[in-house]
Amino acid sequence: MSARSAAPALSPAGTRVFQELVRNGDASRTALARDTGLTPGAITRAVRPLLEAGLLLETGDRASSDGALGRPATMVTLQAEAYQSIGVKVTADQLFGVVCDLRCQVLDEVTVPVRDHGADAIVEQIVELVDGLRAGRPAVGSVGLAVSGDVDAVSGHVAYSPFLAWRDVPLGTEVARRTGLTTTVENDVRALLTGERWYGVGRGISSLALVTVGTGIGCALLVNGQVVHGGFGVAGEVGHVLVDPEGPLCHCGNRGCVEAIAGSAGILGRMAEAGFDGLGIGDVADLARSGQPDAVRVLADAGRAVGIGIATIANLLGAQHIVITGEAIGSRSGPAAGDAPVDEQDYDVMDPHVRSAFEERAFGSAARSAIELRPLRFVDWARGAAACAVEHFVTSYGRS
Ligand SMILES: [Zn+2]
Repeated sequence: MSARSAAPALSPAGTRVFQELVRNGDASRTALARDTGLTPGAITRAVRPLLEAGLLLETGDRASSDGALGRPATMVTLQAEAYQSIGVKVTADQLFGVVCDLRCQVLDEVTVPVRDHGADAIVEQIVELVDGLRAGRPAVGSVGLAVSGDVDAVSGHVAYSPFLAWRDVPLGTEVARRTGLTTTVENDVRALLTGERWYGVGRGISSLALVTVGTGIGCALLVNGQVVHGGFGVAGEVGHVLVDPEGPLCHCGNRGCVEAIAGSAGILGRMAEAGFDGLGIGDVADLARSGQPDAVRVLADAGRAVGIGIATIANLLGAQHIVITGEAIGSRSGPAAGDAPVDEQDYDVMDPHVRSAFEERAFGSAARSAIELRPLRFVDWARGAAACAVEHFVTSYGRS
């Protein structure tokens, strides 16, 4: 019986157990009872539909004992490959696609150049990419799409995506209709946050902020365990926090926003003013490492602006953990497995400035937020999109 054809009714307790196992891979029945607050009998009833659907497997682990009673522990293991999702990050230049299992491990990946970034043409290319990735994979049951801009995750509608020049595109409906697969659409930074929430640093914490530093400054927030979507689709616009009223003009019409100082255009614009034309962000970082004073100053200002922005987040929301990533922090396309080493990245130059500005501006205990700067690979975006599709499957399983 395939996981897709079998979707028996699942109790709320069953959903909680399923979520625990998607987060952790496996657990003993005893640990599941402890972590969910359910009785052992309730655990037995809760997991039965998932065992029957082939999504879980029970094994008696004879090597370990179940507490003081000395009985063999029964392990419950997620059958991660029994259900698979395709994640696609849509950009104006390229589509990045991955197939992931229920633990969001990447099983396959593909990158294709965009032929035409009109909505109809991109839908056509997404359908081709999905059809290619699902060939020979009957366990693929859903698609997750990640798009920058103002996205209504409930309807799958892209209200506005500046980089794609899209307005009011019913992306989710079209891709679902053409592929026959359940399709979710999410803002790309929120998709990354969703990946962290299920499989990364967000596991077990209720408040997390993820900030991407690149062409724009993106931010997604987890507050009280919920991803914040905002009343009107806008939330966490840390890029437009004021850093310097006399600073450079921002595209939003104001001066001295974080994005005007730390976004790629801001950094490269200030380098051009200093006589360095035609650089990429990596070149600026290389110059700074070699001690070139303009590059050192521009990246120090950028790091400081980001630090002030995240201190504002910490002061407002008390985030337990703040991840800063993105192409201005360090981005290279890399192997898919998620554990390959990445070269020394640009974040080493910004890191001390981000941290010192944060420490100056964070109020009281808000300064206890764990700050993590890390590089971002394109595959991570697509994996975040797949995480949204997996999340939808797990939270809605057996509830149709
Ligand atoms: Zn602005």
